[in-house]
Amino acid sequence: MATTIAQKEDLLRNLPQSGGACLMYVDGAFTLASDGGTRKLINPANGEVSAVVAEGVKEDVERAIRGAREAFDNGPWGSTPALERAKLLFKLADKIDEHFTELSRLETLNNGKPVRETEYDVTDAANCFRYYAGLATKPHGQTFDVPAPSQTFVVREPIGVCGQIIPWNYPLLMAAWKLAPALAAGNVCVLKPSELTPLTALRLATLIEEVGFPKNVVQIVLGAGPVVGQHLAESHLVDKIAFTGGTKTGRTIMQAATGNLKKVTLELGGKSPNVVFADADFDTAVDYALFGIFANAGQVCSAGSRLIVEESLHDKLVAKVIERARNIRVGDGFDPNTEMGPIISRAHQEKVESYVALGKQEGATLACGGGRLAGELGEKGNFVMPTIFTNTRRDMRIVQEEIFGPVLVVQTFKDEAEAIALANDTVYGLAGAVFTTDIAKAHRCIRKLRAGITWINTYHPTYNEAPWGGYKQSGIGRELGTYGYDSYTEVKQINVNLDVVPSGWFSE
Ligand code: NAD
Repeated sequence: MATTIAQKEDLLRNLPQSGGACLMYVDGAFTLASDGGTRKLINPANGEVSAVVAEGVKEDVERAIRGAREAFDNGPWGSTPALERAKLLFKLADKIDEHFTELSRLETLNNGKPVRETEYDVTDAANCFRYYAGLATKPHGQTFDVPAPSQTFVVREPIGVCGQIIPWNYPLLMAAWKLAPALAAGNVCVLKPSELTPLTALRLATLIEEVGFPKNVVQIVLGAGPVVGQHLAESHLVDKIAFTGGTKTGRTIMQAATGNLKKVTLELGGKSPNVVFADADFDTAVDYALFGIFANAGQVCSAGSRLIVEESLHDKLVAKVIERARNIRVGDGFDPNTEMGPIISRAHQEKVESYVALGKQEGATLACGGGRLAGELGEKGNFVMPTIFTNTRRDMRIVQEEIFGPVLVVQTFKDEAEAIALANDTVYGLAGAVFTTDIAKAHRCIRKLRAGITWINTYHPTYNEAPWGGYKQSGIGRELGTYGYDSYTEVKQINVNLDVVPSGWFSE
């Protein structure tokens, strides 16, 4: 079951358009690119054009940055009390809830993922705005009992103009993760969605306008990463760059940001271990092994892409995981029966498939999947079947590199020490899980994982309240929770002399 043209038009009807192209949100207005350029978005489920959008260039992002600078330096936002910022964010959260069905379907059109996943994303996005709305008015400073006659305290202030660059795998949710803490803390934002999936960010822009944020507090600029994103990272008028995406792009952005030494936070890739001990609850471990890698067709930074199983459990666990992986219903995200949707683009599908070929060449056993979805849907859309490799070695590239698709590699271990050694044996350190019924072992192992997001006897739950980010090459800094708020603030110490007399340090 796919979308009809009428349904598609209905989903796009709330996006401001001109000449058939959806407009970006720059300088307080919905606008075409300065050179009139556009980009066709391709529906990953069927290869059809889902929408045409403005394709910004350097001049457009320049204009947005200048507007943001003016808004931060001289606009009303700087003197808008935290309570008023909070009210706007609460209203935005309510607007998202009001448009729940529309936004989730638009996200499925945008990215291809099943509606049951996009419904989670929309709820999460609303709650993210709600969480930071609440946090805006909470205490953020400190006071210090320093030697008299001083009183010293610390306040947190907004950093200024924040450039925010996000990927395609959670388009609306990533926009919320970026905008909510930044706005709560009093910053202004220029957000650049992935060029592949800008639709829900544009719809969010219309809601932001309805809610009544002052001009240029939020702008949504569209365009290619190496053009618009690169300039956002380079501009000396931007004070902070917050990026979520691939590790290679993260490195480029960090280099681009050195010109004015802007603050940088990076949420990057992963190759996360899912460690299962023989004493784990079997059905739970099987269930989360599947959920860890096949949710969002494996296009999740924190995906449990390495299943690391105790030798004595290996055959039984892997047989069950394979049996269940074969039953996963792959298809169009609009079909209510679909459990796993498409890969975002044909190019990315080919990249995932090149890893399948590589795994075979490297000598791993392709135990399940590896091919495309059969039939007409499989020809038109970018579907890769749930794929599992066994008999792997730790030095194989399929074990070390992020594939970012529905490809699971299985490794085995003899004891706890080997489990941890394997788990930590990549350049990444984003996430990881341990499954065991031995509580002491669970805690011992989790503390030894070099990863920022960890789970015991579960995989993937993510909370707006808890910090998100990686060790090693999975990133710098943290999003979400109070950590996410802090990362959008400068810290200022204020010393007050309570005894206003000259110090007498130098003689008269
Ligand atoms: P990507 O790095 O290709 O692109 C991400 C964003 O960066 C896009 O908006 C893109 O236009 C922009 N970009 C590309 N080149 C740029 C440049 N030179 N300068 C500035 N911006 C540029 O990543 P992707 O393919 O969209 O997303 C997949 C990657 O994102 C995976 O590696 C995944 O692990 C990672 N990711 C990480 C997290 C996390 O929280 N750690 C979350 C989601 C995705």
